[in-house]
Amino acid sequence: MIRVKNLTFLYEKNQEPVLKAINTTLNEGEYTAIIGPNGCGKTTLVKHFNALLPPLEGDVEVNGLNTRSKKSLLEIRRQVGMIFQNPDNQIIGMSVEEDVAFGPGNLGLPAAEVRKRVDLALEKVGLTGFETRAPHSLSGGEKQLLALAGLLSMNPSYIVVDEPTSSLDPAGKESVLALLLQLKNQGIGIIHVTHNMEEAAIADRVIVMNQGEIVADGSPRNILSRVDWLKSLNLAPPKITELIWELNQAGIKLETNIFSIKEAAEKIAALSASVKDSINCNMP
Ligand code: ADP
Repeated sequence: MIRVKNLTFLYEKNQEPVLKAINTTLNEGEYTAIIGPNGCGKTTLVKHFNALLPPLEGDVEVNGLNTRSKKSLLEIRRQVGMIFQNPDNQIIGMSVEEDVAFGPGNLGLPAAEVRKRVDLALEKVGLTGFETRAPHSLSGGEKQLLALAGLLSMNPSYIVVDEPTSSLDPAGKESVLALLLQLKNQGIGIIHVTHNMEEAAIADRVIVMNQGEIVADGSPRNILSRVDWLKSLNLAPPKITELIWELNQAGIKLETNIFSIKEAAEKIAALSASVKDSINCNMP
């Protein structure tokens, strides 16, 4: 469990606090999306999860290890892997396998164990066969998968991804999101910073931040159906949710917490079938 207790942070003296007494808990095996307008503090918050930033006030604990403790630093970084928007900055090796081997190699593990971990991590992300490729020759999506393989080779408890799909094409996005879901199902806690509400919809839980505070925390159905409220925060609700909301405004009564096209089509089809039935019943 990652416990955040009264976390306050600012980068520069006299700056308005970027994080204001935040309290929350993130769990292994849970997929949490963190959303909020630009500059609200999402990246600053998640950088506290693996001790990239130390709290100014309050504490962050990863499975009981305080991120202020220098002696826990390596273990915290192993348990909480983090990937940022541009995976190029995280590529270290000259080949795919060398890149993935870097972390476990640094743990001082025997060569056979490193090899095993590299092979397993590449298999998990679907990059088996890419071992000898130069990382820079990979596509954007493949580079993100490579970065994920690097984290997986360390057997993390949590993976934090900050806008991981923003520069990817639809196929690249899909493979990264599918992998994140699969890793969650294997028990890893996924923490996904995103401004894309369609992506947030796949999470188990959505945390909404605004101006350095958590302003909502709940299921995607609960949070993403608040169309007006999301817009007031400069966030674009999922298109399908907005359409259903607009239909409701126009008097067509549908549940508003719908955010998949398939589900919307089913509800609209059911509604039109019930209208047809009632017309048939009323016929003389
Ligand atoms: P988000 O991820 O929600 O866009 P950030 O956590 O990146 O927000 O930034 C929160 C606030 O902190 C913003 O006002 C930003 O300008 C400020 N900030 C971020 N990094 C630094 C820094 N290194 N020095 C000073 N201010 C910063």
